[in-house]
Amino acid sequence: MTEKSIFSRIIDGEIPSEIVYQDELCFAIKDIAPKAPTHLLLIPKKPIPRLIDAEADDQALLGHLMATAGKVAQAAGIGDAFRLIVNNGAGAGQTVFHLHLHILGNMIMGEDSLGF
Ligand code: AMP
Repeated sequence: MTEKSIFSRIIDGEIPSEIVYQDELCFAIKDIAPKAPTHLLLIPKKPIPRLIDAEADDQALLGHLMATAGKVAQAAGIGDAFRLIVNNGAGAGQTVFHLHLHILGNMIMGEDSLGF
């Protein structure tokens, strides 16, 4: 059996975390090492390791995550200016192999290394 991800352990109550949003399919927490003044993680309860591991059956879930990211950003007060990031694979900086959307806000945009 593959080991449970840290995010599965959080949703199962095995690791404490501040859950700021939850529904039947996903939940959002504050990132423990924020890279922006507002840095939330939106995580499907289904432990899909990487975005590329999502299957045809997961399409509705992926759409739900996008729509919910907007709601969570709005509730966090960054509805007018936020960024979503998904790191896919270790080469892209993924460290937790349970799909998650980074929701970032309250930062100056346009000043990262890519000029975004
Ligand atoms: P990634 O590098 O894209 O896989 O992002 C994983 C994120 O999870 C990082 O930004 C970490 O700071 C964050 N993280 C790891 N452990 C925890 C935790 N226990 N609670 C909240 N965020 C966490």
